[in-house]
Amino acid sequence: MQTNQSAATAQTTANLIAELQSFGIRLADPKAGAASRRGGAGPSDHKAVTIDGVTVMVPIHTASAFDSPYSASAPAADGTCEVRRDGAAMGRISFPPQPRFYGLSTADGVPYSKIATLHGRDVLATTILQTCIRYQSRTKTCQFCAIGQSLAAGRTIAHKTPGQLAEVARAAVELDGVKHMVMTTGTPNATDRGAGVLCDSAAAVKAAVPLPIQGQCEPPDDDVWFTRMREAGIDSLGMHLEVVTPDLRARIMPGKASVPIERYMTAFEAAVPVFGRGQVSTYILAGLGDTREALLDISGRLVALGVYPFIVPFVPISGTPLEDHPSPSPEFMASVLGPLAQMLRDGGLSAEKVKAGCAKCGACSALSTFEKLAGEKLAAERETA
Ligand code: SF4
Repeated sequence: MQTNQSAATAQTTANLIAELQSFGIRLADPKAGAASRRGGAGPSDHKAVTIDGVTVMVPIHTASAFDSPYSASAPAADGTCEVRRDGAAMGRISFPPQPRFYGLSTADGVPYSKIATLHGRDVLATTILQTCIRYQSRTKTCQFCAIGQSLAAGRTIAHKTPGQLAEVARAAVELDGVKHMVMTTGTPNATDRGAGVLCDSAAAVKAAVPLPIQGQCEPPDDDVWFTRMREAGIDSLGMHLEVVTPDLRARIMPGKASVPIERYMTAFEAAVPVFGRGQVSTYILAGLGDTREALLDISGRLVALGVYPFIVPFVPISGTPLEDHPSPSPEFMASVLGPLAQMLRDGGLSAEKVKAGCAKCGACSALSTFEKLAGEKLAAERETA
């Protein structure tokens, strides 16, 4: 009975997360909690929200969020807000507080918040190089990316030095208890594709504070970089496919698609023995045209290699060519994440076992909640058998 009840609760939470991530939410007080994220590399235009103890990113600056059936009241005295769907009460949410390290600046006057930001509840995230060879012209740019926008708006700096990253990481651990760090980077060249700058940055952070680190880059041209990154202190590695159907990749990310999927697969094969099974992951944006079958097919191949496919719903970012492209429906996400969670379970991979990074944070997707649901269902079946 206990197990059936927790399975039902997990199902309700998973459904609510999938709905909020698809529709977004209208906030009575947009300033509540930690500042929302706008522009930058990777997913953006959303805010960290805690639902039933799970912190996820929910769109708030997108066109669909302005029309969302979901709204949240201003925070009550206990910091929680009532969520309503079309006026009907659905439960309460809260927001992680603004991190304390945001109040500090380096000796030469750079605010720490321009060097790294808090993601989810306890993740420190930085984009080391805020420039990218793929972002030079609109014909090469990944159409979902806003890496240049936050730089143009003065919300970040172009190159975070190893010393600056180490200083901010130490403060974020000491003042805000961050648990792991994500280092991503714009792609600086067509050779190491960012692996070198990840090595320098990770070594400096690890010398300052024992924080688990995920490095994120395109597959480098030489697999020796995997050993170098591991030796520099990178615990987990992300090489992000984003889109998995070749002609869609060529259309949506013409520059990045010059590194074909098969190179990603050989890179995954070489990286897993270095970092360990389940410590290499890839980030895939559902809702850009890949079918459910294409997403699940490649996930099967990835899990077999020991790679964690972190599938997230696409969130359009204002100012990008895809700003009007809708997020996938909650039904589509559930039809992908349910079987994927089962696949991860069968393959012995889980978000919990990842040492650092997006798959561990999980805030951009309901996947880790579906993983828990798969576990609860299995336990319930065993109990009734
Ligand atoms: S899943 Fe990754 S990109 Fe999303 S909030 Fe967490 S660390 Fe940031």
